[in-house]
Amino acid sequence: MSGGLDSQLAVRVLERAGAEMEGICFRSPFFGPEAAQKAATALGVKLHIVDFTDDAISLLENPPHGFGGAMNPCIDCHALMIRRAGEMMAELGFDFVATGEVAGQRPMSQNRQALGVVEKCSGMVGRLVRPMSAKLLAPTIPETEGKLDREMLLDISGRSRERQIALAAEFGITEYPSPAGGCKLTEEGFGRKLKDLMDHEGLGNRALVELLTVARRFRLPGGTGVLLGRDRDENAILKANARLGTLVMPVNVPGPTALLTEIKSEKDLDLAKILVCAYSRYDRLEGNIMLNLGEVARPYPREAFKEFQIC
Ligand code: SF4
Repeated sequence: MSGGLDSQLAVRVLERAGAEMEGICFRSPFFGPEAAQKAATALGVKLHIVDFTDDAISLLENPPHGFGGAMNPCIDCHALMIRRAGEMMAELGFDFVATGEVAGQRPMSQNRQALGVVEKCSGMVGRLVRPMSAKLLAPTIPETEGKLDREMLLDISGRSRERQIALAAEFGITEYPSPAGGCKLTEEGFGRKLKDLMDHEGLGNRALVELLTVARRFRLPGGTGVLLGRDRDENAILKANARLGTLVMPVNVPGPTALLTEIKSEKDLDLAKILVCAYSRYDRLEGNIMLNLGEVARPYPREAFKEFQIC
């Protein structure tokens, strides 16, 4: 369950077809369970929240079916989520896994061919029900065994949302997030940060991956990565992660905390100090800015800014 309209409708359609259900949603640094929790509460469905971080990281490092428009390995991500759901199905004694996927709705991950690939790669052939498009797809095992009435399932396809919106009204579903959104991996800007991390520090350190949603990020000429807090909360998060590198902070003026993941050169350290000063309230200060790693004279060399790469 993503908590989106299609997954909510899938629950109601399956209920109408006589199924008993429990929901599964996945959490990682890239997507959270909030929308699914809200939907499950509204639908009265028990929800299992499963950590998917290690799975998501392994897919980012090697997505067998590649990425979508950003750093989103949707086909493999769907398949692996369904595989994990299938494992839970077996453990908990359920008969099938269902999703809210609609044939032809998304050009890459939900065209007919992709639905087949996802089913095959998930290892759930015959046990994966897509109630929104079931009548357009081959009958599944629960349908042929008579556990699920195929006639009660739907035949929706394509990108139009008209039938879903009409069904939402019929089922009294009024709150649902927009179809796009909810997964950071589909955002180009986030994808750039992720790619930068993969190219430099790699994804092996989970704490660094979890910091991807925090702070301004810079890559200095020598290769040093700088995370610069944007407010008090982010500064506190960076301080709590001091073990990941070196902190640079102003001590005699309000300003940001910087976390340098690994200092690659003296010049990078100097540039990082300048960066911290540039974002400090130096206008409130007579004299030089004191950092925990030394003193930086004002005015600092503005031309140094040309050397920062903003990730
Ligand atoms: S949008 Fe994000 S969570 Fe959904 S399948 Fe794609 S990568 Fe996975």
